[in-house]
Amino acid sequence: MPAAATHCPYCAFQCAMSLEPRAAPAAPVVVGRDFPTNRGGLCKKGWTSAELLVARDRVVEPLMRDESGRLVPTDWDTALDRIAGCLAASRREHGADSVAVFGGGGLTNEKAYLLGKFARLALGTSRIDYNGRFCMSSAAAAGNRAFGVDRGLPFPVTDLDDAETILLLGSNVAETMPPFVAHLAHTRAAGGLVVVDPRRSATARLTADGCGIHLQPVPGTDLVLLLGLLHVVIQEGLADEGYLRDRTTGFEEVRRSVNAWWPEAVQARTGVPADDIRRVARRLAGGRTYILTGRGVEQHVDGTDTATAAINLALALGLVGSPASGYGTLTGQGNGQGGREHGQKADQLPGYRSISDPVARAMVAEVWGWTPGPSRAPACPRCSCSTRSGGPAGCAACSCTARTSWSRPRMPGASAPPSSASSCWWCATSSSPRRPSSPMSCCPCRNGPRRRAP
Ligand code: SF4
Repeated sequence: MPAAATHCPYCAFQCAMSLEPRAAPAAPVVVGRDFPTNRGGLCKKGWTSAELLVARDRVVEPLMRDESGRLVPTDWDTALDRIAGCLAASRREHGADSVAVFGGGGLTNEKAYLLGKFARLALGTSRIDYNGRFCMSSAAAAGNRAFGVDRGLPFPVTDLDDAETILLLGSNVAETMPPFVAHLAHTRAAGGLVVVDPRRSATARLTADGCGIHLQPVPGTDLVLLLGLLHVVIQEGLADEGYLRDRTTGFEEVRRSVNAWWPEAVQARTGVPADDIRRVARRLAGGRTYILTGRGVEQHVDGTDTATAAINLALALGLVGSPASGYGTLTGQGNGQGGREHGQKADQLPGYRSISDPVARAMVAEVWGWTPGPSRAPACPRCSCSTRSGGPAGCAACSCTARTSWSRPRMPGASAPPSSASSCWWCATSSSPRRPSSPMSCCPCRNGPRRRAP
């Protein structure tokens, strides 16, 4: 049997490989294949991925519990009839929403699409979601906030090959996707790799020997560090004012929001030396610059604001949409981006269409040969549960106490609404309507910089 060209199934890098069959029970031989992302390289996960195919405990046939509770092999027709019967019984007794569907970022586009269609048409349930709900939701929300669209890495990874400076926040690519490191070679040779990580990770160590700089903020202060970098960019006249004027809105509000974060104030909060903050900000403004975020800074209580701050920094420098520069968020799973574009999220139909948009509902229903029902109320914006209502004052139906984006420090995107003079300078809630008298004083909501200082 000839070798099969395929890709490693595990992470977003999707390294190309070939599988050369061997006689059972030996696993196929994995051979790295030339491809723009991995150029023949694989990591340990890829090299060993084929072993799964011959693992002794691999499930290769359906198993069903007998009367004693023991799992015993059965045939597919019996297993599928059992599943269909259980689903039908649950829907009959408890309603369609008693059945939930949970997908994943490892599914192909086609499978993600089919899963969403199956949930909505065959099961009629609104309870569908996938693990990306947590994984990249902060980055997705920030992307939507700033650009109106969520795109993980909006350029080929090979674009990084010629970068002079890369600011990498919250991602340890040297361990999670080692072939990625080859794309950092030019930047390292130019001394321009900037890694933000509280740990001296394998990726942070790539900055040694003049290859760049490792910034080690106190855990949980990435947002402040980014605000400080933007402060320096603005104060030192490094912002691309023409780009901001022609291609963004709302930057005056952003400019005001970083007034308080001069480098020494940021050093007090983050532990990153002020001189390093200035040095990195100047380096970022030098051209051929990319800013990349990962889950380390996104999966955090301030994750959406942190990703937004990274985008604002990129916009201030004129990186987005300009040649040889940009902003991106590194996806993690095999199909993290595609998985969330094809309808396996509770609030989205295929093609990133909102499920509450009547035009989008009608369009998808027509493709599916279905008559759309009335849109249900949107999910609670606090906790994304499906009990609806909710608002700045809370979720009336589910009474959840989760914090909302309204009560967080507001770091508006380029398309953010204008600030309200009557809302709190720090937390943007109307419950604390006083603006502090100086940048380092705190507002009555007790969330001001001094209160939060370590
Ligand atoms: S970097 Fe990712 S895609 Fe490549 S071999 Fe490793 S796990 Fe697989």
